[in-house]
Amino acid sequence: MISRKSSAFTESVIREMTRLCIAEHGESCLNLAQGFPDFAAPTELKEAAVDAIRKDFNQYATTWGAKVMRDAIAAKTQHFRQMTVDPETEITVCCGVTEAMLSTILALVDPGDEVVIFEPFYENYGPDCILSGATPVVVPLIPPDWHFDRDQLRKAFNPRTRAIIINTPHNPTGKVYSREELAFIAGLCREFDVIAVTDEIYEHLVYRGEHVSIATLDGMRDRTVTINGLSKTYSVTGWRLAYAIAPAEMTNAIRKVHDFVTVGAPHPLQVAAATALRFPDKYYLDLLNGYRERRDFMLEILDGAGFEAFPPDGAYYVMTDIGGFGEDDVRLAHRMVREIGLATVPGSSFYLEPERGRRQIRFSFPKKMDTLRRAAERLKKLQRVS
Ligand code: GLN
Repeated sequence: MISRKSSAFTESVIREMTRLCIAEHGESCLNLAQGFPDFAAPTELKEAAVDAIRKDFNQYATTWGAKVMRDAIAAKTQHFRQMTVDPETEITVCCGVTEAMLSTILALVDPGDEVVIFEPFYENYGPDCILSGATPVVVPLIPPDWHFDRDQLRKAFNPRTRAIIINTPHNPTGKVYSREELAFIAGLCREFDVIAVTDEIYEHLVYRGEHVSIATLDGMRDRTVTINGLSKTYSVTGWRLAYAIAPAEMTNAIRKVHDFVTVGAPHPLQVAAATALRFPDKYYLDLLNGYRERRDFMLEILDGAGFEAFPPDGAYYVMTDIGGFGEDDVRLAHRMVREIGLATVPGSSFYLEPERGRRQIRFSFPKKMDTLRRAAERLKKLQRVS
């Protein structure tokens, strides 16, 4: 009674690990699985949302986004990326990057097309392709520095290739794609007439290197969909606010799909978002400094607990090698939930072929330092079975 499409993928392991930990430990579960902050969102943003509700922004906004939010997105994108975007024709506000990505792929990719994805990848991209009838073609990122082999990437491109998904800074590895890497990818996109779809939700969390939007490289603006959102930058993952920036023709198609999938994102929160999107530079510096402290602390405690961490250059995850434990990723992740009340994500959930991730586990660290210190205490109690 279920479609072939929906049976071709499993439920999200990230969300499953969260549920499992809460079911077993309730409030005392330390959730380093699903990547969301356990600290407050900026007061000014919360006040703006309360104010918007008081002012009765309670009905649908324009399906592709309230004008105040689109104008603020255009201004922020100009400021940080020196990219000029027309808020009237080139922006679609969506319910989270999850929806922005799915609406984009549904709008631009046909059954039978191929979509290139770097592996390991954020688990949504696989189902996004399958729901669109497309075939995901994976190209490995090679540890410890998560580089890709240029010949291997070139071989993945062919006349059936319709799009490539790039996520920078990258979940789960923390890779920040260099300008040279992106220029190489851009060259292939131009040569094979391929669309670049980028997920840049962690753009402000870069510890080493610089964030580059592929849309700003030569000849790429016309063939790129730049996706971004408020969840991570303003610590409001539950508000479900994101946006896709694309040339007018592609935006038209994305807006149509988006309209029939969700109609639109919550109106009062969009009005509030305009306030956050215009925060001064200092906000982003403070955010980054806080995350840098968490990152460094995580690396220290993971090392002490026997995990071999791949230090992330960006985003808020640490991918680790668990070879020293003599257990596979799922067993160890479940044992950690059971024995020390700490949730993580088994590496296999980031691979098309689960076997390739059996020696890896992802920790996320968008947490209060106090939460991370508690995690450190629990990790000390983790025994090795072998
Ligand atoms: N992006 C976050 C993660 O990888 C949260 C995913 C989600 O649950 N939407 O954990």
